[in-house]
Amino acid sequence: MEMRMNHPSSWLLLLASLALPAALPAQVTVPAEAEKAAAVINEASLRGSVRFLADDLLEGRGPASRGDRLTQLYLGTTLQYLGFEPAFGAGGYLQTFDVVGVNASSPKTWTFQKDGQSVNLDVWNQFVASSGVQAPQAVLDKAELVFVGYGIEAPEYKWNDFKGMDLKGKVLLMLNNDPDWDPALFEGTRRQYYGRWPYKYESAARQGAAGAIIIHTTPSAGYPWQVVQTSWTGPKFELPAAGEPRIQVASWVTEDAARQLAKLAGQDLDALVKSAHSRDFKPVPLGVTTSLTLTNQVEKVQTANVGGLLRGSDPELADEVVVYSAHHDHLGIGKPDKEGDTIYNGALDNGAGVTQVLAIARAFAELPQPPRRSVLILFVAAEEQGLRGSEYYAKHPSFPPGKIAANINYDGGNIFGRSLELSYIGLGKSSLDGVVKALAAQQDRTVVGDQFPDRGSFYRSDQFNFAKIGVPAIYMGAGVKFRGHPEEWGKEKVEGYVQKNYHQPSDEITPDWTFDGMIEDARLGFFAGVVIANDDKMPTWTPGDEFEAARKAALAAAAGGAAGKQ
Ligand SMILES: [Zn+2]
Repeated sequence: MEMRMNHPSSWLLLLASLALPAALPAQVTVPAEAEKAAAVINEASLRGSVRFLADDLLEGRGPASRGDRLTQLYLGTTLQYLGFEPAFGAGGYLQTFDVVGVNASSPKTWTFQKDGQSVNLDVWNQFVASSGVQAPQAVLDKAELVFVGYGIEAPEYKWNDFKGMDLKGKVLLMLNNDPDWDPALFEGTRRQYYGRWPYKYESAARQGAAGAIIIHTTPSAGYPWQVVQTSWTGPKFELPAAGEPRIQVASWVTEDAARQLAKLAGQDLDALVKSAHSRDFKPVPLGVTTSLTLTNQVEKVQTANVGGLLRGSDPELADEVVVYSAHHDHLGIGKPDKEGDTIYNGALDNGAGVTQVLAIARAFAELPQPPRRSVLILFVAAEEQGLRGSEYYAKHPSFPPGKIAANINYDGGNIFGRSLELSYIGLGKSSLDGVVKALAAQQDRTVVGDQFPDRGSFYRSDQFNFAKIGVPAIYMGAGVKFRGHPEEWGKEKVEGYVQKNYHQPSDEITPDWTFDGMIEDARLGFFAGVVIANDDKMPTWTPGDEFEAARKAALAAAAGGAAGKQ
């Protein structure tokens, strides 16, 4: 849940910057032995693990598949080989947990009716629908369609699209993203959690709605329709339901399909969208009804986070930890692409992230003595299903959240060469800025914020679940300025991957991959962990940050727990 305050005025910002704690030194010194150990982060080590993880034999590493278990075995045994202790007590290197897989079959067409007229939408080309419930059927029964604008309730922005209207049993048609035309609203073009699809479905469930339909446009989603298709087909895995409100059907439609629905209602989609651009917007009942039954195969299966621990060398600080994370799962086997390939190898997503964290683990193992704080290497499961592994870890952490100094997360990697920039998702949010900036400067790189702020990347990978329990996080990318190339080249490369390979069977290692940039990013993350683990103080959130309150609560709980133990 997003908790960020409204934009402070400039004097508040000034105060906030004056109040920035000097927790970490502006001058960051990397110990000579860490410089030496970083040599093992090289092309061979990075290429080797990606090659294994992205091999067809791993079958795309879908949760609870054979490929998933092979991946867990590979990562656990590698951590053991490197001398890391099992992170999970009796579980050894594995933190096994239940996930409920729901594989919904949609009828070929979805019908919407009004006054004897109807619109039929085609599955896959015009809509995708998944079950919101962990039950044999998800049912909409003559439910009425209501346009609810962005579907956002945000008291801190005095924004409420629902205006207290009774939406029980309705199907909510909603816009993706969050309001982005005013810098004072929802941080302008930066996508907040309010603009992400999980928020939309949770929000509809809180209203007691029966279903929710998100209208896809490429700009408002940040990715093309094909990504919706491949990501929302096949079994969806969740943690077992625990009594939270749920909708029956969670769906997406194309913009063209939404246009047809609006027309059926005697409305114009553009006019509806325009009306949603206002605080005064009220839900618009469309007078359209719809029924839909999804037949679900429901199975409870298991997957696992994989973790290894390097105990800190300072007895005072060893009960605190720096956590590295990368998700080890991908989409498994699915619908064939044009070439008939059905294996979603996930070489970049997230073989590249896993291999960087493995190489970092190897560098830690090379140190003559571990840093003062402990280091946890954590490969989380089921990220592609909605950050499930990190959600489970955050609910069952192996260290109290108040004892977790920082999370350094890798999702993806730079395969385009050395970068002039370091794009730091979450720049400005915590005192970790100082560490990242100093280390980037040592690589002759400048730190820039998220180069695609409209995509809400901070909320789209596992550091989000750490932030939710108060842990400051580093999550970085290469930016778009690569050495020896014009900026357009970099933008084209990054965009090209999103358009062609992201969440497609073609996300494979290809001959054009280069590792020079990835080596720099992994070394930087290694140095950052060494510096954070050796520092006298723990990192802190920037005062007023959306996650500061969670940190305070976690620190208080950890202090209380420690006092209780004595
Ligand atoms: Zn992904």
